Amino acid sequence: MNAIYKNLQGQQITTAKLLINGEFVESKTQQWQDIINPATQEVIGQVPMATTDEVNAAIASAQAAFATWRQTPVQARMRIMLKLQDLIRQNAKSIAQVLTAEQGKTLADAEGDIQRGLEVVEHACSVGTLQMGEYLDGVARGVDTYTLQQPLGVCAGITPFNFPAMIPLWMFPMAIVCGNTFVLKPSEQDPLSTMLLVELAIEAGVPAGVLNVVHGGKEVVDLLCTHQDIKAISFVGSTAVGTHVYNLAGQHGKRVQAMMGAKNHAVIMPDANKEQTLNALVGAAFGAAGQRCMALSVAIMVGETKHWVNELVEKTKTLKVNAGHEADADLGPVISPRAKQRVLDLIQSGVDEGAELLLDGRDVQVVGYEQGNFVGPTIFNQATTNMRIYNEEIFGPVLAIIHVDTLAEAVALINANPFGNGVGLFTQSGAIARQFQEVIDIGQVGINIPIPVPTPFFSFTGSRGSKLGDLGPYGKQAVQFYTQTKTITSRWFEEQAPSTGVNTTISLR
Ligand code: NAD
Repeated sequence: MNAIYKNLQGQQITTAKLLINGEFVESKTQQWQDIINPATQEVIGQVPMATTDEVNAAIASAQAAFATWRQTPVQARMRIMLKLQDLIRQNAKSIAQVLTAEQGKTLADAEGDIQRGLEVVEHACSVGTLQMGEYLDGVARGVDTYTLQQPLGVCAGITPFNFPAMIPLWMFPMAIVCGNTFVLKPSEQDPLSTMLLVELAIEAGVPAGVLNVVHGGKEVVDLLCTHQDIKAISFVGSTAVGTHVYNLAGQHGKRVQAMMGAKNHAVIMPDANKEQTLNALVGAAFGAAGQRCMALSVAIMVGETKHWVNELVEKTKTLKVNAGHEADADLGPVISPRAKQRVLDLIQSGVDEGAELLLDGRDVQVVGYEQGNFVGPTIFNQATTNMRIYNEEIFGPVLAIIHVDTLAEAVALINANPFGNGVGLFTQSGAIARQFQEVIDIGQVGINIPIPVPTPFFSFTGSRGSKLGDLGPYGKQAVQFYTQTKTITSRWFEEQAPSTGVNTTISLR
């Protein structure tokens, strides 16, 4: 473990390896892409665009390993997860260093990224009770019915840049602990911290072929989506790519789940705890430079809370923009110069379309990191639903504020938005909260919680335009996603039992 970490400490360029049949190997491809520190533009590594032969070899190794892995007792599979969670805990700080170097988020947030994934590994340690089937005796005379939750075979995961620890850990631990084998395709923008976690999985005892890794972009993804031996695909990323993956893999008969883009709102009621609410809004809008699928991008101020806007701006001004490795950083850079340009263009569109720019992060200067892709916290007041800053996922530190008079108006506005990932309500009233949770058409609701990402005992349940497929990653839904329910109806005859006669009807008797 930790060659990548040591290389980074020694400022050496490292290459992301493929993992095929238990071996970490250098790709033979001619196509490589730089992995760039977004705070400095330093090249810290290179990632290969794996060849078709390499992707096929990874899938073949997973297919071969499935035959024995599916027969491995569940306790043995869980013990590997127990070991893995321990190794991740021991190595979290050094993985966080690599994660910050390649992704840009602050060290504290990088540790949070690892911690939220680690919790899924912990949950995978108890898959025995989650994967149990059901049994009902006596569904007819002498007839019992029971179910098995059987692994599917080779599954694949395709992950985005914004959570290079948590999201791979949403996928492969639950998939393999259920008895599947797996091919992971990490984000090509920041695959190194993901690879450290994969190294730990091998160190924890995941057998050769059970977990494989290929790197690349569209070509590799399309190959995974169309390969006959892959049974299920878990995708997390943008709406455009998620829709493509869902359609392509679906056309090729695969089970698919696609967690996609978002536009998350918070509704602020006049009876909310003002100080706590403003703190929550600032953290959720600008943490991780707004590059979270559950980031807060629209604050709907109801009634008198319109007078809280100035205080919100003043609080936001206290945030420090800096390289993620610096101790005082509250938010780091966005992932790439291209991503930064996109955010800047969207800010300009807000100005052009008439929103009131209360805080402008476009010209932020970070001393010592002049080349970084920094955008400072940006706040628009008086945004309207026809503006691009309202309709497009910005994925940067930009908050749009909309004012309404009533909760009903806020609910109507949110329910008319195509996305359905997350929403927050800020109130001290249980009655208002209960009413809101009933009528709001969003898959994950926070009540005085701005980023309501469920813990792994539950599942990630984004909805509508933020998700395709019925089942979410991790939790009970992941067990359903990664297994096929087989229902067995059985009858055993006692030696001397009288003949039941010929039954030409559908009913059991
Ligand atoms: P992305 O869609 O650009 O990339 C995701 C994955 O798809 C990567 O592995 C990438 O290599 C691959 N890919 C990129 N272009 C492709 C193409 N044309 N064809 C096939 N595969 C392709 O997403 P990103 O920029 O890495 O991540 C940010 C996005 O992910 C945001 O939209 C964010 O909301 C979303 N996201 C959603 C969730 C969720 O749970 N809903 C969680 C995290 C991120």
